[in-house]
Amino acid sequence: ALVLFWGAIAEAEYVKYKDPKQPLNVRIEDLMKRMTLEEKIGQMTQIDRSVASAEVMKKYFIGSVLSGGGSVPSKQASAETWIKMVNDFQNGSLSTRLGIPMIYGIDAVHGHNNVYKATIFPHNIGLGATRDPELVKRIGAATALEVRATGIPYVFAPCIAVCRDPRWGRCYESYSEDPKIVQAMTEIVPGLQGDIPAGSLKGVPFVSGKTKVAACAKHYVGDGGTTDGINENNTVISRHVLLSIHMPGYYNSIIKGVSTVMVSYSSWNGVKMHANRDLVTGFLKNTLRFRGFVISDWQGIDRITSPPHANYSFSIQAGITAGIDMIMVPYNYTEFIDGLTYLVKNNFIPMSRIDDAVKRILRVKFVMNLFENPYADDSLVNQLGSQEHRELAREAVRKSLVLLKNGESADNPLLPLPKNASKILVAGSHADNLGYQCGGWTIEWQGLSGNNLTIGTTILTAIKNTVDPSTEVVHKENPDSQFVKSGEFSYAIVVVGEPPYAETNGDSMNLTIAEPGPSTIQNVCGTVKCVVVIVSGRPLVIQPYMNSMDALVAAWLPGTEGQGVADVVFGDYGFTGRLSRTWFKTVDQLPMNVGDRYYDPLFPFGFGLTTKPIKA
Ligand code: BGC
Repeated sequence: ALVLFWGAIAEAEYVKYKDPKQPLNVRIEDLMKRMTLEEKIGQMTQIDRSVASAEVMKKYFIGSVLSGGGSVPSKQASAETWIKMVNDFQNGSLSTRLGIPMIYGIDAVHGHNNVYKATIFPHNIGLGATRDPELVKRIGAATALEVRATGIPYVFAPCIAVCRDPRWGRCYESYSEDPKIVQAMTEIVPGLQGDIPAGSLKGVPFVSGKTKVAACAKHYVGDGGTTDGINENNTVISRHVLLSIHMPGYYNSIIKGVSTVMVSYSSWNGVKMHANRDLVTGFLKNTLRFRGFVISDWQGIDRITSPPHANYSFSIQAGITAGIDMIMVPYNYTEFIDGLTYLVKNNFIPMSRIDDAVKRILRVKFVMNLFENPYADDSLVNQLGSQEHRELAREAVRKSLVLLKNGESADNPLLPLPKNASKILVAGSHADNLGYQCGGWTIEWQGLSGNNLTIGTTILTAIKNTVDPSTEVVHKENPDSQFVKSGEFSYAIVVVGEPPYAETNGDSMNLTIAEPGPSTIQNVCGTVKCVVVIVSGRPLVIQPYMNSMDALVAAWLPGTEGQGVADVVFGDYGFTGRLSRTWFKTVDQLPMNVGDRYYDPLFPFGFGLTTKPIKA
């Protein structure tokens, strides 16, 4: 009875770090004082959901869990299933001695793209074409709601890469080749996290509550500048160019309160960013005064060596000494924990470095009120794929479209198309393919083909929804010219482009339209008046087909709301988008954004024809 009595008193004892009325730093210091090395190292460890469980969370004091590209409970899991999983891991964390909540992170890079039924927004390249940071901010807010609807408080977005070479497989994750556009689009940070209240300290991580998520500016720094656009490769530029082109977006994100920054796999002048103390600790933390936490990329410290993981202890030392605070391990967590423990106990990594890392992680967790609200709020489940968010995505699609050609001359435009033609043809590999429309990072890491991956509207369906009921819409993916000739179509819409891809799989040295796209264009456009719509993550080789087509629209990777394409093509809205990238004539011209080189592009940066909406 005596033991029970003392136990009750101990429990009732006032614990400063648990008191939300205490100032942030007091809470951090109080908790730090109580933590063992084991508990601190646990906070620095992020593991994949596939190896996580309540038991693992508890046993190793794991600080964070992620869904690495497409690591999902099951493809069509409901919001409730996600919430149950996240809460289960959280139970493990909360049942530890100090009860420090874990933080769950996911790649929500164009909406909540790992989750069935979520609204999928255009990829960043299309958002760059909108030139509309306020729209992008609203997309951030909608994404935050959908992510929170599944119990997740942290996203690995935005990607603020300045892609300088479209051969890079992540070009579509970049808003623009122009650093100014990328900087403007960091408005997504307050969209995701909430607006910093007027008068409060800038630069400190900020997340405003249960309907917002912690964001992550990635990939620090120079990821979009690698030679020939080769993923994870070396960026060979002067410090001046690095600071002029690739760095300012981080400054903008930090003053808007971004909570975390992810380090790039790439190197800068031969030094792996994951081992670059000068730029991670020196520039990001000391010069830019970033106070949130720095996270590694997936197995990013392993890749400090070639081959990866050749000497893991060395990688841990180099990565953590460089200034990385949380390590996306993500599978071999006992090896990481043992390795880091050894390095600290033997003075290869000073305790002060560990303390800095853990304080930063705790700061974000306190700022987010995770100690007060560690569990998912299931009142938000209706936000997932809501009508309101789909309308927003449709608006974004409309504004992202870039009209590159419209008839022979301005006096004789083809677009907008009439809705009352008697018979039209819709052709091309991308006309009725939701997976292609969404691109990579959609349900699967590499994306998917077909229409079953999630809920949405294909461009074909959108066209059928838009034309008059009397119009006959004939759909044939790859018609021969005889079919086109005998069809007596008023006009045709040909939708072609790239298949989905992500990261290195998307690196391409030839940037061609996927087969049989070129012959579809030739067969259709050589025979009937035609509009070509390109669905792609970047400019593709299009010059050889320019003369045959009557109109050309770049639709980028529009996502689930294909209706936005028909809205503009048929004149309910006008074309307003402008290229966020220079469109090359031939791949020999690449890279185009290098100091003293000048090429005559097919379409210059900023190009975009406009149309007026047809008044109903
Ligand atoms: C990518 C990151 C992503 C991470 C987690 C990596 O392969 O480079 O952008 O956040 O995986 O899925």
